[in-house]
Amino acid sequence: MRAVEPNHVRPVWAEISATRLATNYRHTRGAAGMELLAVVKADAYGHGAELCAPVLAGSGAAWLGVTSVEEGVRVKASLGMLPSFLQPRILVMCGVWNGEAAVAVEHRLTPVVWEEYQLRLLEDAARARSLAPKSVPVHVEVDTGMARQGVADLAAFAALIAEDSPLRIESAMTHLGSTEEAGSPLNREQMDRFAAQVKASGLRLDWIHAGNTSGVDAGEILSQIKEIAADCGAQPMTRSGLALYGYALELTGATPHIRRTLQPVMAWKTRILSLRDVPAGATVGYNATITAPAPMRLALIPVGYADGLRRELSNRGRVLLRETHAPGVHAPIVGRVSMDLTVIDVTHIPDAAIGDEVTLIGDGVPVEEQAALAGTIPYEILCGISDRVTRILV
Ligand SMILES: *Cc1c(COP(=O)(O)O)cnc(C)c1O
Repeated sequence: MRAVEPNHVRPVWAEISATRLATNYRHTRGAAGMELLAVVKADAYGHGAELCAPVLAGSGAAWLGVTSVEEGVRVKASLGMLPSFLQPRILVMCGVWNGEAAVAVEHRLTPVVWEEYQLRLLEDAARARSLAPKSVPVHVEVDTGMARQGVADLAAFAALIAEDSPLRIESAMTHLGSTEEAGSPLNREQMDRFAAQVKASGLRLDWIHAGNTSGVDAGEILSQIKEIAADCGAQPMTRSGLALYGYALELTGATPHIRRTLQPVMAWKTRILSLRDVPAGATVGYNATITAPAPMRLALIPVGYADGLRRELSNRGRVLLRETHAPGVHAPIVGRVSMDLTVIDVTHIPDAAIGDEVTLIGDGVPVEEQAALAGTIPYEILCGISDRVTRILV
């Protein structure tokens, strides 16, 4: 990969590979065998939604999923250069709140709805713009077992929308809580409840969607999405975020269809800022959590927990040097990760020099390893990489 770091800022950046993002999208879409909504919420899981959205749209994504109206507006603006036939629809996955409805309607974002107040906010906003009956599509989420978002009774909710309302239910959707546990009865129960709700509503719909990365990876729910869609005249769709960025959770109970072929999209990098030799007995960092057992060569990198490098990696994590000479050499993190600075042990890399590139997450330093050390999931590590890390599309 060519050197792409920005000038005039401290050397902490994340390279976002457009090729890998596009390849992961096509691969996941192929395994899904149906339309795939590309989830770019939470700033594309920390990858930069405005960088990723145009790549995904250019790869054929007909739908993008964002967290909020505000994020949807930013993503839409990032797509301005695309010809209209490539403009994806944008689904606002966490509903609309006071003040957001007018913006959602103005920018033709498509909200997920499940509370009556959301219908009224959207109707008021649409009527204020004199929009025709049934001209503003919404997707209704059905709660089939996660007890977060969603209606319990789709037919009753649909009845809250009057004949002359500017709103139209374009899709019913649900979200599954346990897709990485293939064969879990919970998946079947949720999908059965979803099927029953859609059937009982008698709605004719354009889209039916459910699932996520693990749902595609395990494959078990895909045929049921297709059946439910066929029954109500809709097109089937599934959704994926994590796979697009190159990761999938480890499945239980099934052989993965996509996990092994995904490639990490982000390479989070920094450079060695300073080097020092310390004698045996020297202590490193806050609270002197480590004492050099022998003379050591230490390198300082200008990155810390304020960038999203987890403090749980203190004395446990590792980074990669010499990535360009694959497979590279790992250097352990020594002492506490602090707010802006971290020390790594390069005793075994005698020619390590100031300015050397260091990879924090990417090929050779999997996000799963950091997630395990931090007691969390890859999702949280990725979207915890903070705004002060410049994202660059490569
Ligand atoms: C985040 C999200 C997804 C994507 O989940 P991944 O596991 O990242 O693929 C799908 N659907 C909904 C409703 C979501 O909120």
